[in-house]
Amino acid sequence: MTTIKKSDFIQSIADGFQFISYYHPQDYIQALAKAYDREQSPAAKDAIAQILVNSRMCAEGHRPICQDTGMAMVFLKIGMDVKWDTDQTIQEMVDEGVRQAYNSYQNNILRASVLSDPAGLRKNTRDNTPAVVHVELVKGDKVDVHIAAKGGGSENKSKFTVLNPSDSIVEWVLKTVPTMGAGWCPPGILGIGIGGTAEKAMLLAKESLLEPVDIQELQARGAQNRVEELRLELYEKVNALGIGAQGLGGLTTVVDVKILDYPTHAASLPIAMIPNCAATRHAHFTLDGSGAAVLKAPKLEDYPQVSWSADAQTKKVNLDTITAEQTRTWKAGDRLLLTGKLLTGRDAAHKRISDLLAKGEALPVDFKRRFIYYVGPVDAVGDEAVGPAGPTTATRMDKFTETMLSQTGLIGMIGKSERGAQAIESIAKHQAVYLMAVGGAAYLVSKAIKSAKVIAFNELGMEAIHEFEVEDMPVTVAVDCTGESVHISGPKEWRGKIGKL
Ligand code: SF4
Repeated sequence: MTTIKKSDFIQSIADGFQFISYYHPQDYIQALAKAYDREQSPAAKDAIAQILVNSRMCAEGHRPICQDTGMAMVFLKIGMDVKWDTDQTIQEMVDEGVRQAYNSYQNNILRASVLSDPAGLRKNTRDNTPAVVHVELVKGDKVDVHIAAKGGGSENKSKFTVLNPSDSIVEWVLKTVPTMGAGWCPPGILGIGIGGTAEKAMLLAKESLLEPVDIQELQARGAQNRVEELRLELYEKVNALGIGAQGLGGLTTVVDVKILDYPTHAASLPIAMIPNCAATRHAHFTLDGSGAAVLKAPKLEDYPQVSWSADAQTKKVNLDTITAEQTRTWKAGDRLLLTGKLLTGRDAAHKRISDLLAKGEALPVDFKRRFIYYVGPVDAVGDEAVGPAGPTTATRMDKFTETMLSQTGLIGMIGKSERGAQAIESIAKHQAVYLMAVGGAAYLVSKAIKSAKVIAFNELGMEAIHEFEVEDMPVTVAVDCTGESVHISGPKEWRGKIGKL
């Protein structure tokens, strides 16, 4: 019998979530560095460089890789010969560890993103609890722990279906990945669960993402079973779709495809697919009763020596004097450095604005000739103006776009990933623009933000409307005033090129 102390367990969970907020798994970083070396699409290479530079800055500064510091997930394998020195439940102890991780480390307070009453009031629990906890009882006298912090953008792209037993898994994956757009911030990893029942397949997909990136080793030694054959085939074929980093078109969409399987019913072929994003965050440790876990920090010299700077064609833009006429000269794919004042707003603020407009009430903010940045930043620490503040998925704001452009005087939006057909139509109709920043490069982006203040809806916390003063914030014109979209043209171009490569 081994006794695990509650204090060791809670400390390990708290330290673990802090650790993964600023250290990428090194296998992911090494795989991304290889993707950077290989990449031939300038836009995708630029995005990967930003993610790599951001990763190193976070490791140095001990600040979050992404403004979305994720929903906490804990996978526990508890030995049947383990005793606990407490009558608290596992869920209670995990939640205490998560609470401490997100709220108690004064130099790195993390963003609380979890809402209770999800179908109703959607009230922020303020400490990122509860965690999602999976417990398995196994033989032995140790506690094996995997922790992960999953961003909403990638989790939202999870897919599930039950195929006919004779259907092709490869066909389903290749048909489904393009429907996920770029809101999951590729390059990342696809986790696939095959078999079992509906919930088992989903769990397998999620658990597969906890394994190390090793597709290159598999390529070198060759497949030894059907699952390995599928991994190799899907890795090649998903990348041949040309989606590329941030959906801009390029050679690498995934750095690995992980698969776990389980026996299933003769009538069924359940399949689940969950992507891990550029903010892939997970860690593993074992508790054996000898104390709290100590995770080994990567060495800074192990990070790839990649730097990022704006290229010579990048245009400087003054947001304080910009006019709609000037934005209409921009073409999809143009790179910009923004300086001046920006408004922020995301899901909850857009809902409030649209409700106020529907009731004919005045807005608390004047959007005329302004840009809005879809972001929910991490709180500042020390002398920061704001914590990591990368873009959130723009498609969630698509349904508000016509209202914003037709009724508020807004001239442009900044977010991540593609826009849907309805939003693109509104952008073209109002001759507005949509700019994208790189998802997963939040700390790097935040360095361009020189001041930040809340100007409306303070009670919405990170979802409040802020005014940022930015200097040389790097963005790309993703949809220009004619409705031309780089997320349509980029992948199409690179799919064609990869076919020829
Ligand atoms: S990298 Fe993208 S999908 Fe991942 S947590 Fe950050 S914003 Fe969300």
